[in-house]
Amino acid sequence: MSKLSQNNSFSWNGDAVACDSGIIWGIAEQVNGLMAILVNTPGGVLTGTQLKALAEIVGEDGVMKISRRMSPILLIPKEKVETAISCLESAGLRIANLHKSVRNIVACPGKGFSSNSRGDTLELAAALDKEFYGTLLPWDLKIAIAGCPRNCAGITCQDIGLMAEPRSRFSLWLGGTETGMNPRHGALVKKGIPRTQVPAVIRKILEIYCEKAKQYEPEFDYKVRLYNIIEKTGLNPFLQGIDDVLAI
Ligand code: SF4
Repeated sequence: MSKLSQNNSFSWNGDAVACDSGIIWGIAEQVNGLMAILVNTPGGVLTGTQLKALAEIVGEDGVMKISRRMSPILLIPKEKVETAISCLESAGLRIANLHKSVRNIVACPGKGFSSNSRGDTLELAAALDKEFYGTLLPWDLKIAIAGCPRNCAGITCQDIGLMAEPRSRFSLWLGGTETGMNPRHGALVKKGIPRTQVPAVIRKILEIYCEKAKQYEPEFDYKVRLYNIIEKTGLNPFLQGIDDVLAI
């Protein structure tokens, strides 16, 4: 079984991002000539200090857009990119990726905010980001977390969806996708996963995804998503892997 590897390193050469790992980081020239910097913010959470840092980067007349995955997108001239990267680092913020890793993790407000929530979605989003940021993967991997069945985070249409249950447990969906011309719901594969075991379960799913993708990458033009693998293998390898983790 493939072990996961992580590589957060990249550099800005004044014109483009240089990166040996293959991860495509979120610094990209736009059609209008501005550069867009995608900021990693699991659950879309920013402190006041971080928000000020973002405002300072774009400037008073500058523009920031929020992506559908809860990431701020800073729109700035190319000559400001180097300074922006160092300002983000100083504010404790990292660049989000566009491809070949875990995308910015989406989460609803959850416990402490929503009276419906059964669990701490933002805590889990931050913990999974800490564990899996910069993990090398075959292509995009989207995770979302909801606090209850109202599903404000749209978890059923993600590669990996998690929904809080009472008593610090989570249900797990696999194999959905929300974008493109063939959106689909994932399958509910497990209920009652203890919060403490969620990272290990996700790690196992990513390992199986990486391992199985080796066989199918050419067929999908090296853009093989988790749902592509599940179409080929069925859910059984993933169900077995999850049960192995939970049996420990
Ligand atoms: S999914 Fe549930 S807990 Fe989360 S914001 Fe919506 S209603 Fe609240």
